[in-house]
Amino acid sequence: MLIVDAHEDIAWNALTFGRDYTTSARQIRAAEAGSETPTQNGMACLGRAEWLSGRVGVIIATLFVSPQRRRLGTWDQLCYRDAAEAHRLAHAQLDHYLRMEEEHPAFRVIRNRADLDAVTGSWEAQPPTQRRIGLVLLMEGADPIRAPNEVQHWHERGVRLIGPAWARTRYCGGTGDPGALTRAGEALLEHMAAHGIILDVSHMSERSFEQALERYDGVIIASHANPRCAADLSTPERALSDDQIRKLAARDGVIGVIPYNRFLKTGWRPAEGKQAVSVKRVAEIMDYICQLTGSSRHVGIGSDFDGGFGADAIPTPMDSVADLHMIGAALGQLGYGSGQVKQLLSGNWLAALHRGLPE
Ligand SMILES: [Zn+2]
Repeated sequence: MLIVDAHEDIAWNALTFGRDYTTSARQIRAAEAGSETPTQNGMACLGRAEWLSGRVGVIIATLFVSPQRRRLGTWDQLCYRDAAEAHRLAHAQLDHYLRMEEEHPAFRVIRNRADLDAVTGSWEAQPPTQRRIGLVLLMEGADPIRAPNEVQHWHERGVRLIGPAWARTRYCGGTGDPGALTRAGEALLEHMAAHGIILDVSHMSERSFEQALERYDGVIIASHANPRCAADLSTPERALSDDQIRKLAARDGVIGVIPYNRFLKTGWRPAEGKQAVSVKRVAEIMDYICQLTGSSRHVGIGSDFDGGFGADAIPTPMDSVADLHMIGAALGQLGYGSGQVKQLLSGNWLAALHRGLPE
């Protein structure tokens, strides 16, 4: 069974920590042993070997930069002071993905439906060396778009999804910094609609979310966001209220559940480690969304692995992206049949991407 992971910060890690994801998480861990990187960003969970062995064939991969005011330390290099700097830093990440595609036959940037079909088809073909890992590019936080009409520029270069916020951006309120859509944010949505770019509402403040749903009639997803009831967060709007989940489902949206212990257990602390949460909990949270919406069509996985946490902070016994299939087994134990499990691990994302990608 193929797996789609709707959120991985691949280029940010590669350019911040020098992680070579064309090898394996195992090799990255060995290379980082004794360095500061595991303390800064946890033990690596991603890598080509693990994507291939875990059958993670399609990944929504981010261009992610953060504002200088949220800088986490001297190691946190990809921070911007203004839109020009954000633009430059995000372009370096875009170039990173294009280089992965150019230099390693295993990777393919997915730009349209035919690319998506070619990648999923490669997992059915023999021999296994034919298998491709497809990357669909998502800009997380839209400040690198210097003006709304620059959406075209990014679309031409392969960006297929945009999340207007991470923290607050020039376009809208975000995590820890709520607020409405700005005038520029309204214009951004118009340009996204004109180019058929998928809207990712993860990190958007509730007010911006409401406005965006009213104004935007294209495909809408939440690449990585848990239901608010999964854990009490200091920034509650980082998670989705029941009302938001119902509204996303009414728009045929898909929500990527994050297997990160802090988002799965109230009060979880890193010292508690992975033992404090089991993979069953991830299945229960996915089930919660299914029950709430009365359907198994609106949820998938958005791991966010290596996006600020590592192997010690994900539910036991998962250790890397190669173990995402364990979520499927846990769903089976909750009574989901193989057809539904397939929807939850890949089918729902593939359907949303099919609707949202150009011909
Ligand atoms: Zn995020």
